[in-house]
Amino acid sequence: MENAPDGSLPLEKIAAAVKADDFHFARTRLLALENTIGGKVLTAEYVQQATALARTHGLATHLDGARLFNAAVATDTSLKQLCQPFDSVSLCFSKGLGTPMGSALVGSQALIDRARRWRKVVGGGMRQAGIIAAACQHALDHHVGDWANDHRRAARLAEGLAAFPAIEVTPQDTNMVFVQIDNAHIAPLAAWLKEHGVLIELLYATRMVVHRDISESDIEQVLNIIKRYFDQA
Ligand SMILES: *Cc1c(COP(=O)(O)O)cnc(C)c1O
Repeated sequence: MENAPDGSLPLEKIAAAVKADDFHFARTRLLALENTIGGKVLTAEYVQQATALARTHGLATHLDGARLFNAAVATDTSLKQLCQPFDSVSLCFSKGLGTPMGSALVGSQALIDRARRWRKVVGGGMRQAGIIAAACQHALDHHVGDWANDHRRAARLAEGLAAFPAIEVTPQDTNMVFVQIDNAHIAPLAAWLKEHGVLIELLYATRMVVHRDISESDIEQVLNIIKRYFDQA
């Protein structure tokens, strides 16, 4: 993976990836960053540096902000501030916001006009989008307050899991908890969890995501079931 552990793309790697202006090569046109990425929030300083570097190379800048709301809550920063350094931003309504589907693309009028054309060209046009938009509107009106809960519950999950010597927890910023489990425990723990009603795809490196349908008592229940596993293991 090209990203550093904090989720950033090192500036020197970005600079090295910009191709020379030579007709043998594709033209480098865009820097796209993702925030949050792997559950990590990019720092404002890094975003400023990376987008400034992109501009010096004549690149447009795009923010894949599928989970930008999580970055806003984790850093107590407005969406406006987080979006400001970029030419365009995409946001996903079906992640922490909890809608069945829906994404928004934000950019200049010219960019949106081109995007609408491309959406039609690739078969993504939809006349009945109002149903989806209504769910997105509902989520914006009613679900925004849930993110802080998601982060609190994820922090509790991370803290609880860190107590088990066989589980290594990566520092947690938002609603995602990344854990590494000792190889010897992966299969038996997965079987134990399934037997106790917790379905999880347990791998050597596992991602656990907390969302608005996961309650505090769900978290405690999972921790308790894992504790009982290690007590008898
Ligand atoms: C989910 C996701 C998307 C796509 O969002 P849709 O609403 O499904 O189009 C894009 N980028 C990232 C990082 C995502 O997590």
